[in-house]
Amino acid sequence: MSTTAQDSIVAREAAALMPTYRRREVEFVSGTGPWLVDAAGRRYLDGLSGLSVTALGHAHPEVADAIARQARTLVHTSNLFYTRPQVELAERLAATLGWADARTFLCNSGAEACEGALKLARRHGKAQHLDKVRVVALDGGFHGRTLAALALTGNPAKHAPFEPLGGWITHVPHDDAGALAGAVDERTCAVVIEVVQGEAGVRPVPPDVVAAARAAADRVGALLVVDEVQTGLGRLGAWYGWQQTGVRPDVVTLAKALANGLPAGAVVARGAAAAALGPGDHATTFGGGPVVCAAALTVLEVLERDGLVERARALGARLGDLLEGLVGSAPHAAGVRGRGLLQALELDAPVAGAVTDACLAAGLVVNDVAPDAVRLAPPLIIDEAAVSELVARLGAALSAVDA
Ligand SMILES: *Cc1c(COP(=O)(O)O)cnc(C)c1O
Repeated sequence: MSTTAQDSIVAREAAALMPTYRRREVEFVSGTGPWLVDAAGRRYLDGLSGLSVTALGHAHPEVADAIARQARTLVHTSNLFYTRPQVELAERLAATLGWADARTFLCNSGAEACEGALKLARRHGKAQHLDKVRVVALDGGFHGRTLAALALTGNPAKHAPFEPLGGWITHVPHDDAGALAGAVDERTCAVVIEVVQGEAGVRPVPPDVVAAARAAADRVGALLVVDEVQTGLGRLGAWYGWQQTGVRPDVVTLAKALANGLPAGAVVARGAAAAALGPGDHATTFGGGPVVCAAALTVLEVLERDGLVERARALGARLGDLLEGLVGSAPHAAGVRGRGLLQALELDAPVAGAVTDACLAAGLVVNDVAPDAVRLAPPLIIDEAAVSELVARLGAALSAVDA
């Protein structure tokens, strides 16, 4: 960064905010569709959508209108009363899941959705017997940063500074169906998995592990919770990642793309799990607020009306093919993983940070999800030409890093 104005935001941020984020020195000021504009007026292709959040792109006119209309009508009432957007959103979520008996709890983030799922699972477990409170989750799984969501997250380095975290969660390797089955016993109230582990580096969980999670949960009367905070709502080329696995969970957690950038989360449960939480068991001041629900309703309507889920599947296949084309032709490109519009380019060395910087210099936003992998999660409204442009810029960045 060069201009005085940009230098000053770096200094002001450092003085005013807790230094919890390692930010790249770019200040974005606006965006349209898959494009972002920085304070110097440079345009960037958004290959990341926040972090799998702005699936409809930036400044989507219908989402903006829905937000503005609801903001001028009613912003907040508390959950002591009924509001229509909340009910309509829950009905629509149930329809996208294909669960006639679904019940939803609306909250404000992915971590909060995972916390809600844990509370629900405890309540469901303790109704069977009082020590049915333990949880089995996967190494590399990411479920958020609040204390219980952090405990659920399978990353020892992130745990260490905040221990003790309770010891009621067991983590097993993400690719070992036998270990998962062995860790689940009568004291287990939930098995929690992602179908593609986003933060672990866009790492698909093998189908036999997903199947083992379902079987183990059924064996002991535990709930299968699939965390779809990053993978849900079309990102993988299906409405939900679990729909590509042949396994149906009892509970899903949602957030990131739900309101295209406004804070929204949801816990959706079916069957007995849908009745596990009762009056007074759980609550949130802002969850299910009319503005966020109006935005989320519009997101679901547009995803469906514009066929964006099928589009994510088709464009994801194209993205995968083009990325495979980099392997062998561009420096450091070593492999491709993921599906739909959530993919990672594997690198042959820990140069993902340098590649991410080079991408920014080439006008492309990506993220170094691992030292040797770059994550791509472009908006679902992207077109074929922009997918080609994305991969061309990534290729140029790889060459620049090698130069
Ligand atoms: C991002 C993420 C979360 C946490 O969401 P926040 O809104 O940051 O709390 C939880 N689970 C998964 C799978 C995620 O990708």
